[in-house]
Amino acid sequence: MIPSQFDYHRPTSLDEALRLLGQSEDAKVLAGGHSLVPAMKLRLAQPKTIVDLGRITDLSYIRESREGGSRIVIGAMTTHFEIESSTLLRDKCPLLTELAPLIGDAQVRNRGTLGGSLVHADPAADWPAAALALDAEFEIAGPNGRRSVRATEFFVEMMQSAVQPNEILREIRLPITPKSVAYVKFAQKASGFAIAGVAAFVNKQARAVTIGITGVSAKPYRATAVENPLRGKELTPELIRAASAKASDGIEPLNDLHASAEFRAHLARVHCQRAMELAMSRG
Ligand SMILES: Cc1cc2nc3c(=O)[nH]c(=O)nc-3n(C[C@H](O)[C@H](O)[C@H](O)COP(=O)(O)OP(=O)(O)OC[C@H]3O[C@@H](n4cnc5c(N)ncnc54)[C@H](O)[C@@H]3O)c2cc1C
Repeated sequence: MIPSQFDYHRPTSLDEALRLLGQSEDAKVLAGGHSLVPAMKLRLAQPKTIVDLGRITDLSYIRESREGGSRIVIGAMTTHFEIESSTLLRDKCPLLTELAPLIGDAQVRNRGTLGGSLVHADPAADWPAAALALDAEFEIAGPNGRRSVRATEFFVEMMQSAVQPNEILREIRLPITPKSVAYVKFAQKASGFAIAGVAAFVNKQARAVTIGITGVSAKPYRATAVENPLRGKELTPELIRAASAKASDGIEPLNDLHASAEFRAHLARVHCQRAMELAMSRG
């Protein structure tokens, strides 16, 4: 199908992009276009104005920042492929380089962006699991300046993030981690989207585990029912198995043509155990 008519702008700075967004009531930001363009072609989205971020070069970077303690900062327009091939991330935030190659195919990874995927908040997207497990922080720019939001507050509903229509996600901030991380997913065969995806960070120093789960329910979640009984404990295989059994506690699993609610809950439990075991075996 052909999208409905729209005005097209290609600003070269974030300020200009924000100004353009504010000028139209029904404007949308375009990043890699791998979610927005299909939605426009199907006329599920019919924005009157498109603000293409493709020429704002300072939204695309991966670096280590020493501001507020050492951490990794990634510009929202950084592509999945740039993350996949980053030696800095492989060394300092290996969960991201493990996850990125599992997204879609080479075309999707070459165009699709980290920021676009997170803002889009597709319940089957992979990045939200990692953002939750690593307790990422998001910097959002708007007409009144910048604000930061924690991962647990960022995913609001199915296809709805904390980013408002007149705002732009600018940067994602993540901790530097050891190798004891893992991402395990059960993928939809054709697209690669997660039917269940579990990211685990076993923080051996703090004797704590953080788990992000995507694909299973309408919005991604931190599996606190798994995390809490493990805090401060020596992680034995029995303890991991018992805690993983709680991976879908308190959530309502999705039930659709890809998988029943019961099967999704089962996948959450099994993949939670696998992700923790794998993370434990590393680093
Ligand atoms: C065939 C196919 C297979 C795929 N497989 C997978 C998969 O296995 N796993 C997976 O996770 N994803 C998958 N995807 C989705 C892919 O990762 C997309 O790249 C991603 O969902 C959207 O990123 P984008 O940069 O293309 O964003 P766009 O499509 O350009 O934008 C998506 C939405 O986010 C908004 N937006 C984008 N950037 C910003 C920003 N910086 N600030 C504010 N709003 C913004 C847009 O306005 C729009 O509403 C697949 C897509 C396709 C087409």
